[in-house]
Amino acid sequence: MQSVNQYFLNIYIAIKSVLIGMSITFRHLFTKSVTVQYPRERLPIPGTSRNLLLNKIEDCIGCDQCVRVCPVNCITMDTIKVFPEDDLGLASDGSKKRLWLPRFDIDMAKCCYCGLCTYPCPTECLIMTDEYEYATYERNDLVFKFTDLDPIQIAELKEKDHIRSMEKEKKKLETAKQAAAKPGKNGGKSGEGT
Ligand code: SF4
Ligand code: SF4
Repeated sequence: MQSVNQYFLNIYIAIKSVLIGMSITFRHLFTKSVTVQYPRERLPIPGTSRNLLLNKIEDCIGCDQCVRVCPVNCITMDTIKVFPEDDLGLASDGSKKRLWLPRFDIDMAKCCYCGLCTYPCPTECLIMTDEYEYATYERNDLVFKFTDLDPIQIAELKEKDHIRSMEKEKKKLETAKQAAAKPGKNGGKSGEGT
């Protein structure tokens, strides 16, 4: 008799459990969903979010402030001083652009998204974008390159810069030689016969 009772009790418990589960499911059919069907649906990104960095390179003056402030050294920048015949125009803050930027790379694999580099930028050309989907299989794809110069231009600029440095060195040497050849204050004739 006891086993018959137990049998019906088990059926009762099973039906009750199913009804409780179904009632919860039914209730949730009419409540607002809190999840989104990513990537088809997306939640708005907060204005303060930190994502992929972008350098609007046409406005970058190569001041180096972002590079110095970065705690993990993930920004690499090379500059070349303009030549007398160059006119790179003005940046948005009114300052004259005096440097070519053959390289401005940000390694986003190293970046810790602290945002520190964006604050000191005088032209506000370095910004956090809304882009957060840039996962990749290739490590090197996470190094974002911002220079607007092509490899030929870069090679030409480097060559010109090299020639300029050599000429400067040559001039320095000549000046030093001339200075050495000149009689000193106490040397030569002026220092004799007293
Ligand atoms: S967000 Fe921080 S870690 Fe990333 S590049 Fe800027 S300063 Fe460096
Ligand atoms: S702080 Fe701004 S202007 Fe200066 S080098 Fe960095 S990105 Fe360019």
